[in-house]
Amino acid sequence: MSSTICFRAGRLVLSDRIVDDRRLIVENGRIAAIEADRGRLPRSIQVIDVKNSLLTPGLVDIHVHGGGGGDFMDGTADAVRTVCRTHLRHGTTTIFPTTTTGSPEQLRAMFVACREVMDHPGSDEARIAGIHLYGPYFAPDKVGCHALDGCRPPDPAEYRAYFDTGLVRIATCAAELPGATQFYRLAKRAGCLVTCGHSNSTYQEMAAGFRAGLRHVDHFWCVMSSVDSLRARCGTPMQAGMEQFVLLEPEMSTEVIADGCHLSPELLNFAYRMKGPARLCLVTDASRAVDMPPGQYRFGPESDGSWFVSDGDVGRVPDGSALASSVAGMDRMVRHMHRATDAPLPDLFRMASLTPAERAGVDQDVGSIAIGKRADLVVWSSRLQVRQVYQSGHLVPSSSKRQPRSTSSGVSPV
Ligand SMILES: [Zn+2]
Ligand SMILES: [Zn+2]
Repeated sequence: MSSTICFRAGRLVLSDRIVDDRRLIVENGRIAAIEADRGRLPRSIQVIDVKNSLLTPGLVDIHVHGGGGGDFMDGTADAVRTVCRTHLRHGTTTIFPTTTTGSPEQLRAMFVACREVMDHPGSDEARIAGIHLYGPYFAPDKVGCHALDGCRPPDPAEYRAYFDTGLVRIATCAAELPGATQFYRLAKRAGCLVTCGHSNSTYQEMAAGFRAGLRHVDHFWCVMSSVDSLRARCGTPMQAGMEQFVLLEPEMSTEVIADGCHLSPELLNFAYRMKGPARLCLVTDASRAVDMPPGQYRFGPESDGSWFVSDGDVGRVPDGSALASSVAGMDRMVRHMHRATDAPLPDLFRMASLTPAERAGVDQDVGSIAIGKRADLVVWSSRLQVRQVYQSGHLVPSSSKRQPRSTSSGVSPV
C-alpha cells in the first residue's frame, strides 16, 4: 500500500544551508520532493505541521556502546533493542553498534544479536546500519576504560570471520600493533571505514596505515598518542603522532565526544575549525548508563566488563582518575557543540548526520534531507531539545518515551 505524507516545515536544515517555508513530500518512507509551501495538497495526503520547529535529518552515531541499561556486548537481542530504543529517543535514527574488548565468543554473540535485530527491526529502535568493530585490537598501554584481558593484537584467523559476516562497516585497530597494516588492507577491501584508536602510534606508523587504507581516528584526543606520550615511548627527538597526522592529512577524518565533559569548548572549536564539517563527526561513545540513574555499571559485557561509575553526567573509572565514556545521547552532543563552537546550524547537523553517514558509506540512504533518501527526521525546539523523531516518515511511537530500565546484571545503582 502506498502512502504519501507532507511535512510542513518552518525551518529545514539541509546539509549546506537552511531553507524556510518548505514542505517535504514523503512517499513510501522516502523523500520525494522538497518544495515551496504554497498551493493546495490533495486531500489524500496526510499533513504533519512542524512549522514552529527546526526540522533536521535523523542523526547518525558511528561510535556507541550502550544505553538504557544495555550494552551491545551483552550479546542478546534484548540488550541490543534496549540500546537502539534509548538512542532513538535522543534523535539517533541510524546506529553502528560498537564492540569493546572481549573474548572472540563475546564478539560473536554480539554479532549474532545485532544481526537478529537488523533482520527484525522494531519501529521504536534506531536502525542498525552495520557494526563498528572497535575492540579488541587496542594498544595495551592505551586500553582506557576497556578490560585489558580482552585486548590483543589483530589475528587474521579471528578478524576474517568478523569481516566474512558482511556486517562490519567501520573497523578499528591501533596502527603500531603487529599486523595492523594487513588488518587495514582487509578492512578496506571489505568496504569499511578504516580507523585507528586506543593507540600510541607515531606519525610514521600512521603514514604506513594510511597507505593501507586508514582514513579515520576514533575519539580525538582521548587515549591516543601525543608528543608527550611518544617521548616516553621513543625518546628524543620528540615525535609527531596521531594528532599531527590527522590535522595535516586532508583525507583523514576524526570524531569528538562533545558532551562537555571530555573536551573543552576550545578543543571542540579547534577540531571543527581545523578539520571542517566534512571531516569531523560527533559521536556519543555512550555506555549503558545513558538515561540511567547515577551508579556503578559495567563497560562492555555485563558478565565481565570493567566497572565504571556514572554521576549522571559522565562515566569515570572507579578511582575517578580518568573518564570512562559518555552517558548522553546525540542530542546533547549537538546542543553542546552549538554552545562551544562557531559552527552554523547546517555544519552542526552535518557533523551529526551526513558526515558520519558519508564516512561509513551509507549516505546514499540516510544522513541528509535529500530526494530519494529515507525520511528519517528530527523535530527540534528552538533550544535544540528533541520534540519528535520520525523514521521512514513514521512518528516514533510515544511508548518509546523515557523508560529507564532499573534491573539487569551489569547494573548496580549506588
Ligand atoms: Zn574508546
Ligand atoms: Zn568507545
